[in-house]
Amino acid sequence: MTDRLSSMCRVLEHAAICPVGFVGETHPCYTIIMSKKVPQKAKDTKLVAHFTEWYCAAHHGSNPRVVLESQGVLKGIYGKRIPILCAECANYVRCVETRTEKCPKDPKPFCTVCDIKCYKPEMAEYARKIMRYSGPRSLFSRYWRQAVRHIVESRRSHKKTAP
Ligand SMILES: [Zn+2]
Repeated sequence: MTDRLSSMCRVLEHAAICPVGFVGETHPCYTIIMSKKVPQKAKDTKLVAHFTEWYCAAHHGSNPRVVLESQGVLKGIYGKRIPILCAECANYVRCVETRTEKCPKDPKPFCTVCDIKCYKPEMAEYARKIMRYSGPRSLFSRYWRQAVRHIVESRRSHKKTAP
């Protein structure tokens, strides 16, 4: 039985945990496992990098912009959609990659609602400029789910800190 399951399914964990005993890529369990395989930190970094790319395209169009080279790119967190950025924005994204990677919180909250504030003031200001531009636009993009989660979590945390 186990042999049959593992040969049917490429994801062995699925075969082990599926309560129905069915395995295959169309099964809901499979989708859940696959989405958990991408860590939240990588998802957040990817989101920030693509937000930065939109901002960079709109504001730094006259600067030379090249495909990002970074640790995150080497780790494959951007998949095939590696952001194209100017030197300044590339520096910012590399900085975000390191900070996110080193974030001690698990699960990592959105940086705007975090109490640690590990960003330097100039980096926080850069982040604000990017969010102001790309935040509203993201609601109409493939990132709308994360954008909505961001709004909800920010509201919740503001309510908590309000007197
Ligand atoms: Zn730029």
